[in-house]
Amino acid sequence: MNLSERDRAVNWHPYTQMKTAHDIIPIVRGEGIYLFDDKGNKYMDAVSSWWVTLHGHAHPHIAKRVSEQLHTLEQVIFAGFTHEPAVQLSENLLKIIPENQKKVFYSDNGSTAVEVALKMCIQYAHNQNHKKTKILALNNAYHGDTFGAMSVSGRSAWTQPFGEMLFEVVFIDVPTAKNLKGLKEYIQNISEEIACFIYEPLIQGAAGMLMYQPEDLSELMKFCREQKILMIQDEVFTGFGRTGKLFAADHLSEQPDIMCFSKGLTGGTIPMGITSCSQEIFDAFLSDDQYKTLFHGHSFTANPLACIAALASMELLLKKDTLQCIDLIAKKHAEFVTILERHPKVEKVRQTGTILAWEIISSQKTSYFNDIGKLLYKEFMKRGIILRPLGNVMYLVPPYCTTAEELNLIYRHIIEVLDCF
Ligand SMILES: *Cc1c(COP(=O)(O)O)cnc(C)c1O
Repeated sequence: MNLSERDRAVNWHPYTQMKTAHDIIPIVRGEGIYLFDDKGNKYMDAVSSWWVTLHGHAHPHIAKRVSEQLHTLEQVIFAGFTHEPAVQLSENLLKIIPENQKKVFYSDNGSTAVEVALKMCIQYAHNQNHKKTKILALNNAYHGDTFGAMSVSGRSAWTQPFGEMLFEVVFIDVPTAKNLKGLKEYIQNISEEIACFIYEPLIQGAAGMLMYQPEDLSELMKFCREQKILMIQDEVFTGFGRTGKLFAADHLSEQPDIMCFSKGLTGGTIPMGITSCSQEIFDAFLSDDQYKTLFHGHSFTANPLACIAALASMELLLKKDTLQCIDLIAKKHAEFVTILERHPKVEKVRQTGTILAWEIISSQKTSYFNDIGKLLYKEFMKRGIILRPLGNVMYLVPPYCTTAEELNLIYRHIIEVLDCF
């Protein structure tokens, strides 16, 4: 049996209808933006392998640091013990995120980072004998696939089988100049019961790269602050340079109480989640009463290998060269926007930093299940480019090692494919 056949015999893939999944490709190696399959074909990973890869695949600097760490300390229980990589990573991260963020809580992925954030907010109220159990979230949100994260995500095909079991959440529209006044009135009426507001800043990724304006979010955040509603800013996708600045927070004039990170945190090499919080949140758990402890932890909390990978990735990210690459991608995208906008089969072109998205005009409505997505995926794979449309929404999230020439090639293929569809 070849690798595909052996895979089919034993593996169940994510977000995949296994009945029709006949084209699962064995990848044997990665380098930079390229992935190589078992037949020697190479593919440009224009989606950063589900938005995680920052500096390209198998980056030698990260590989070296992780390998050294593996020979020194691979894992230690993080209750009662600590280690240099975890301390250093927290120190370094706190230096580059909003200055009100003072403490770092480690977990395993984006979903768990969100679970921890929600538990912090609910227990923050509980520890002070306040009865606040409602959560505010945005329509079309995506915060992960565990039950808490699903609960605060927009209701969709993905959450449908679990509908009855998800906790109640108050959903509001993404803030715009037009609806802000109405949103504030609506929130004001229920603000006493609301523990927190969770949002993906600037870009709702999984919903189809829906974008909204930093000024409008800042204004809503300011209002939440006045209403004493805690804010959870989910930067799992937007963090570490994707928006053209280090964090979406750098586009905003208000600071959240809690932030969530994962995906690009380790440069996309090893799974890890982080939930950071303000001193005020942390202090609400300090007590002689044992019941006020945050009873949450994962076996691999602050795994030293993941911490080192994150440290190494952040070293690369903060290099002048890398920041210039991010600028270059953003600039090249902006030029390509003007071309896409003129294309008769394209609408709703949008860009934030290194993230570019547009919709294909099709007879079916805009949706994750729009069939054109699958056709486009196949066509681009034939051309050696991994683009994974969300239905009829196409997007580019390239790793920062992508060169101008590589971008030009991707753009050229996109126009060719659009022309013949
Ligand atoms: C991907 C994503 C998550 C979930 O992260 P996982 O590591 O896949 O669990 C949460 N929030 C946002 C904004 C995401 O894009």
